[in-house]
Amino acid sequence: MSGLTVELQAPNGRKWAQPTGLFINNEFVPSSTGKTIESIDPATEQTIASVHAASASDIDAAVKAARAALKHPSWKQLPGTDRGILMAKFADLIEQNKETLATIDAWDNGKPYSVALTEDLPETINTIRYYSGWCDKIHGQTIPTSPQKFAYTLRQPIGVVGQIIPWNYPLAMAAWKLGPVLACGNTVVLKSAEQTPLSILKLGELVKEAGFPPGVINFVNGEGREAGAALVQHADVDKVAFTGSTGTAREIMKMAATTLKNITLETGGKSPLLVFDDCDLEQAVRWSHMGIMSNQGQICTATSRILVQKTIYERFIEAFKQQVKDVSKVGDQWDEATYQGPQVTKAQYDRILSYIETGRSEGATVLCGGQKHGDKGFFIQPTVFTDVKDSMRIYQEEIFGPVVTISTFETEDEAVERANNTTYGLGASVFTKDLERAHRVASEIESGMVWVNSSQDCDYRIPFGGVKQSGIGRELGEAGLEAYSQTKAVHVNMGTKL
Ligand code: ADP
Repeated sequence: MSGLTVELQAPNGRKWAQPTGLFINNEFVPSSTGKTIESIDPATEQTIASVHAASASDIDAAVKAARAALKHPSWKQLPGTDRGILMAKFADLIEQNKETLATIDAWDNGKPYSVALTEDLPETINTIRYYSGWCDKIHGQTIPTSPQKFAYTLRQPIGVVGQIIPWNYPLAMAAWKLGPVLACGNTVVLKSAEQTPLSILKLGELVKEAGFPPGVINFVNGEGREAGAALVQHADVDKVAFTGSTGTAREIMKMAATTLKNITLETGGKSPLLVFDDCDLEQAVRWSHMGIMSNQGQICTATSRILVQKTIYERFIEAFKQQVKDVSKVGDQWDEATYQGPQVTKAQYDRILSYIETGRSEGATVLCGGQKHGDKGFFIQPTVFTDVKDSMRIYQEEIFGPVVTISTFETEDEAVERANNTTYGLGASVFTKDLERAHRVASEIESGMVWVNSSQDCDYRIPFGGVKQSGIGRELGEAGLEAYSQTKAVHVNMGTKL
């Protein structure tokens, strides 16, 4: 093996050659400083591998590669149809390697292998495949003005795009960003999260195998404050797209202001889930459990604030407690029975436990959970708080773990007002059998997505994004193309003399 590849074997027995360099110009290269980042298995706290961490000068090399590729005829003049064929091939290659990729994300992130394989990988493949179909369907308009003039618009790529992704769905978040950016003909430098760099590097091998010209897609690992900040501040990056916490998004917006960069941000949430007393209670309990406890609670759209109509509150909390007991089995990534794996890092684990302490000291009641789980690894018991007041931090702030608050409301007006009483606006759920109420509440709630009688529905064909401090812009669907193309107007004089 070269110095930039290590042989790995995961606890499920799967073996592969893992690249550890930075993927620039279709080659794996070492970081200029020799600095590395350790990737940890959150279940055992053991190191999986060390990967190279980009410095500002490595980011500069990646941006230069992306700029050169943007101008090179092999990309710039590639017809959209051929670009779509490349992307479809990329999707096929991901599919052919799905077991290895799912193993890497399960090991590195802590999510159950079965979830990585049956949820994250299909989402990744479908997203790239979906956008491969858009490549030759992105076009401008002709706009009638007068017989003397002819005007049309061109939809052109923005240029070199810097993308920064989080660790909760490493491959799926990469696909959400790569799909539209490539469909629109841009080139890209994508920075993976320092907690989960491994699967994205494996993707680099597939980029090359699919036949993308060098420099079109570059993957860099690195610390947010160093590599991420260098990417955002780079003068030759035309746009930055980011998914992560609201605090980091604020930093990014400030940095992007210096060069007036176009930005798309997908940030945090504290999404409400309203349960009205005319709902199907069994369904409401199932969805609301999944809406906060799946993916270890590490979902930006997690419906972490459950509000239940007072008339059915006691029945709801008993059933919810039972659902946690029956379904939320905590265990390692490889056990088929595991519903909830470890939290991604020690930092997240400590943060969540500290929020649980805050909830207790604020006077909320722990209905179940409230402790770490086991003595090794970053496992936390699924935790449910009741007697929660709107002023409490556990009700207001994003915890990003398996922790939910349940409180009560009496009227629809009160429910909507309290649901909207937050700085966030990502997702929201409403459970009711009353059709009129469902649509009324869906319209009144301040959020980018509303789920009627469900939670967490997400589809590569449907726009995704937030309002208020949950983000700027949309990803997925046709709306996702807006972020990565710009309109140029061409005015043609049909011979009229001045
Ligand atoms: P979390 O706090 O959950 O780790 P972050 O929002 O900090 O989430 O991280 C999401 C992504 O943003 C990661 O890829 C991280 O490296 C990157 N990042 C963190 N801080 C910065 C920063 N100051 N500038 C640019 N990128 C950053």
